[in-house]
Amino acid sequence: MAGDQPKVVVVGAGVVGCAAAYYLAKAGCLVTVVERGELCGEASWASAGMVSQAVPADDPLGRFHALGSQMFPALAAEISELTGVDASYRKNGGWRLYLNEDSWPGWVSQYEKYQGRGMDCEILSHEEIWEREPALGPKIVGGVYYPEDGVVDPRQYTRALALSAMKLGANFIFGQPVLDFMTEGERVYGVEIPGDQLSADVTVIAAGAWSWQLGEMLGVHIPISPARGQIIKLRATPPVLNHTVHCGDFYITARPDGTMLLGSTVEFVGFEKRVTPYGVMGLLEQALRVAPGLSEVPIVDQWAGFRPYPGREMPIIGPMPGREGVFVAAGHFRTGISPSPITGQLVMEAVTGQKTTLPLEPFALDSGPLD
Ligand SMILES: Cc1cc2nc3c(=O)[nH]c(=O)nc-3n(C[C@H](O)[C@H](O)[C@H](O)COP(=O)(O)OP(=O)(O)OC[C@H]3O[C@@H](n4cnc5c(N)ncnc54)[C@H](O)[C@@H]3O)c2cc1C
Repeated sequence: MAGDQPKVVVVGAGVVGCAAAYYLAKAGCLVTVVERGELCGEASWASAGMVSQAVPADDPLGRFHALGSQMFPALAAEISELTGVDASYRKNGGWRLYLNEDSWPGWVSQYEKYQGRGMDCEILSHEEIWEREPALGPKIVGGVYYPEDGVVDPRQYTRALALSAMKLGANFIFGQPVLDFMTEGERVYGVEIPGDQLSADVTVIAAGAWSWQLGEMLGVHIPISPARGQIIKLRATPPVLNHTVHCGDFYITARPDGTMLLGSTVEFVGFEKRVTPYGVMGLLEQALRVAPGLSEVPIVDQWAGFRPYPGREMPIIGPMPGREGVFVAAGHFRTGISPSPITGQLVMEAVTGQKTTLPLEPFALDSGPLD
């Protein structure tokens, strides 16, 4: 133990590993983060960075997301101040738009439910939306506006988290994969990296879509697989969209510099990191259906990344069954940036033996040993 607090190794320097490292270091733990590549080089790098307040249900998953996005502004301000790096969080509001008259009753009742839960939101007709966002098209029937929705540059945010953790004493090792765990019976007491061993009271697996590989090293099945997401980046000068736009599963994020991200595909194709004609075509078709005003805006970039898909709605946040000294924080699938503050806090609370802000049972890894 470092003082009274455990010595912790975190595997993976994506947003989840960095948020965990920050909260653990802040709680006085001696933290080492081991990353086989570079800081924020995988799913967190590829993310669109939406921080959404519109949480559909008041259930464990809904409360997790609501708390995460509520904590976001304060955490972003805290790490920006600590490091001098702008964590880049902006509350710019978001639209949920509808193209189909038949869906109107459904989303009116959704809106009423949100309002009933005290959420700030506004229901608007096509004309009212058009007045505020002229780039959007005539096919829109109406929509709901959520002024509390925000957006962050996930690369800058994760960097600010990592630098904050470093400022509080965390050590980061880049370019070194965890190859195996050090074990004695059921007890895990650290990890092996090329040419070295790192001992720890607790090892946190935050290896995103690769977490199953770490589970295999311990003979435990972590049911996470990669879900590829492709994104297209546009930049308009001057900006043509002010708010994030959602239409079904499709979205366009908007930043004050005129940058917009069109996203994103969800494809179960293994670890094939590529942008495909089919993916790009689908995203552009949807973009022009929702916002014909983007038809002449230049495409400046595109990329793909692997979301950690846990085969269920809940991410995995909890101890590894059948092992002592290992904790899993992975499987956030489509929304890992937005709830990163509550994820980091829950990891810290569980690892340091505190009562957790939310019960962890719904997040448990209910998996048996490998066959
Ligand atoms: C296209 C796309 C758009 C998205 N948009 C949003 C959004 O708008 N809002 C939102 O909230 N979420 C979004 N997400 C989801 C979000 O990005 C992910 O849920 C989140 O980034 C997962 O973070 P992570 O730290 O678990 O994984 P990762 O960021 O993938 O990090 C895992 C890290 O572990 C490392 N690693 C793996 N194996 C080892 C090993 N053996 N040793 C050492 N290191 C290892 C990897 O190199 C990697 O750096 C999006 C994702 C994608 C792909």
